[in-house]
Amino acid sequence: MQKTFTYIDDHFEGMVKDLQAFCAQPSIAAQNIGMAETAHMLVQKMQEAGIEARVLENENGYPVVYGEAKGNSDKTLLFYNHYDVQPPEPIEKWNYPPFGSEIHDGILYARGCSDNKGTLLSRVHAIEAILKSGHTLPVNVKFLVEGEEEIGSPSFEAFVHAHKDLLQADACLWENSAKDEEDNPVVKLGNKGMLYCQLHVKTGNTDVHSMNAPVVPNAAWRLVQALNTLKDEKENILIEGFYDDVLPICPEETEAWKKVPSPEEGLKKRLGISRLVNDAKGDEVNIALYTKPSCNICGVVSGYTGEGQKTVTPCDASAKLDFRLVVAQDPQKIFSLLRSHLDRKGFTDVEVSITSAAAPTKTPVTEKFVQVICRAAEDVYDKPLVILPTAAGTGPRDVFAYTDMPIAGIGCGHAGSVQHAPNENIRLTDYKEAIKHVAALLFHAEQEEIR
Ligand SMILES: [Zn+2]
Repeated sequence: MQKTFTYIDDHFEGMVKDLQAFCAQPSIAAQNIGMAETAHMLVQKMQEAGIEARVLENENGYPVVYGEAKGNSDKTLLFYNHYDVQPPEPIEKWNYPPFGSEIHDGILYARGCSDNKGTLLSRVHAIEAILKSGHTLPVNVKFLVEGEEEIGSPSFEAFVHAHKDLLQADACLWENSAKDEEDNPVVKLGNKGMLYCQLHVKTGNTDVHSMNAPVVPNAAWRLVQALNTLKDEKENILIEGFYDDVLPICPEETEAWKKVPSPEEGLKKRLGISRLVNDAKGDEVNIALYTKPSCNICGVVSGYTGEGQKTVTPCDASAKLDFRLVVAQDPQKIFSLLRSHLDRKGFTDVEVSITSAAAPTKTPVTEKFVQVICRAAEDVYDKPLVILPTAAGTGPRDVFAYTDMPIAGIGCGHAGSVQHAPNENIRLTDYKEAIKHVAALLFHAEQEEIR
């Protein structure tokens, strides 16, 4: 393994250049920009690293990149990643161009460098380093890289189900993780689920002069009143039955949570806020962030929002909401509970539609694969890996619910990587460690039980 680490140190500059080039290629799924080009670029980089890679056409969506590298043992690890990125807007908030891939003071700034191109390429570079430092690969590796994660993976489930044999593996390394507020490396064992939906109210055929407000219904008020029934001021979600399927947390997981540092102070400082929701402090922050479901308004649109004033009573109003769900809430069931709730509260005129849905998932902290990832981390990091039993975010892990393979996420971001926001960045030192961690994991996986 030492030869591989030396290779990484000696060739790191070239690896960073690869990453810069990869991040400079836009791949914005939401805007259909650069998708096929990026998939082909990735295949080429994987082939250069010694991975048999190809684009698999995906009739329902953006192409999927698949890669395979044969190993010494018959164990197989599946790497799940995505090559699409979030839109860069608002571009004026970026200090450097979002697709400029500029490096300043050891930090790479680029849309997607943390989520998820850096993590993806760190795995490609790990394999390159193992193969080019004179080793054969310790275990079999399969890459599954989709192009629709940032738009909710609409065709991913069908794709995976159509390729079950190809994707057969003993364990899966998931796409994403980042160092926490105290710079501890983190492994993530689960995802929250999500129900994303839109509410729409139409109160008439046309907006009218606001002198009519005393008699003509206002769609914006109607929507606000409906939204106001969903949650109380203590963050309790008031939809009947909403919490019914939430599972209790096992003792091993409770222990793991105690070792996760509270992000309270770091969050406040970084975001410039003086208090968190419900005045959460210390451990309460992690409990709320990771183990509680939420109901969030992503955006509300109605009436006139331009410069100056316009006296108008709008006839249309819409809102986008996301509910983050925890094991074992079912997004489809939550959707029908939401509909029933609105009806019961007298808002039958408020239309609701689903934009996307993903179920929550969690790999038990007691899985052997998790311990192997932790031992591999000891070869690289000077701090122990923090086990995060579930992440606060959502991804399509539930697509693999048909297998019982453990799924764990590691990555190259840090607490200030600002994924999805302007100035997304990674530190190059973290990138190098991420490459080494993946390389170390492959060596450990050959020697140790992963199931
Ligand atoms: Zn993302």
